[in-house]
Amino acid sequence: MGATAKWTCPGCGMVRRTAFCPTCGEEPLRPRDLKVDDLAARIFAALSNVDGKLLRSFRALLATPGALTVHYVSGQRRPYLGPLQLFLIANALFFAVQSWTHLAIFSSPLASHLHNQDWQEVARAMTEARLRWRHETYAAFAPAFDRAAVLNAKALIILMALAFALFLPALHPRARRALGAHVIFALHLYAFILLLLCLSMLLAEADRLAGGGGLEAGSVDMALSVFNLLACAVYLYAATGRFYGSRGAARIAKVAVLTVAIGAIALAYRFAIFAITLYTS
Ligand SMILES: [Zn+2]
Repeated sequence: MGATAKWTCPGCGMVRRTAFCPTCGEEPLRPRDLKVDDLAARIFAALSNVDGKLLRSFRALLATPGALTVHYVSGQRRPYLGPLQLFLIANALFFAVQSWTHLAIFSSPLASHLHNQDWQEVARAMTEARLRWRHETYAAFAPAFDRAAVLNAKALIILMALAFALFLPALHPRARRALGAHVIFALHLYAFILLLLCLSMLLAEADRLAGGGGLEAGSVDMALSVFNLLACAVYLYAATGRFYGSRGAARIAKVAVLTVAIGAIALAYRFAIFAITLYTS
């Protein structure tokens, strides 16, 4: 059926001459509608559309930092997955790689909070108070805490993206972007960071399988942390140039501040996961 042949929209009953009803978005029934071959063609088209969007979005995310944010904010949205969808898919991938490698990037066992972290004194006081209030022993509480912490750390990563978004308006006052635009920039950045962390976990796992210490080894952990922060800096340099139009020395200074912010937020996140898990499990 051509786009100009008359048809009656089953949704609103109006006679239409366009390919889609401008009110309901319905399209005319095709002559072979519900025949198996037509159904198969539709399913194939729907799947390859999702696939196409997925691949196009991830390619843009990795190859042209900031471009997805530019497209989204300028209203060119249909060719790509939305920023939240993209973030959630990256988050799911992060879940999968973390379970597969048995690594925990943002969560530490209770024992580590109490003895190895910078906040161990505060953590000890908070844990003692909590255990007294629950009338529970450390031995009974620790396993439940450790299980819940792993889950919380994977599920609440979006909080880091939202915290990061708060740094953006102050650094780019002349861009005059709505707060939502900064949030979308942050979601795209954290989708990238999640993919980067997947790569790190796979590299650490490869090191372990090759007989190295994996992330448990301080040197591997250190090397990957430096690699990740450098990758974030390079990504931010490209993305802020593309989206905020940052140039020159100010651009380098802003990238430095934002890279430090990513590291600081990750550290704060580990403590936040401790506190959230302590009071919810
Ligand atoms: Zn209609």
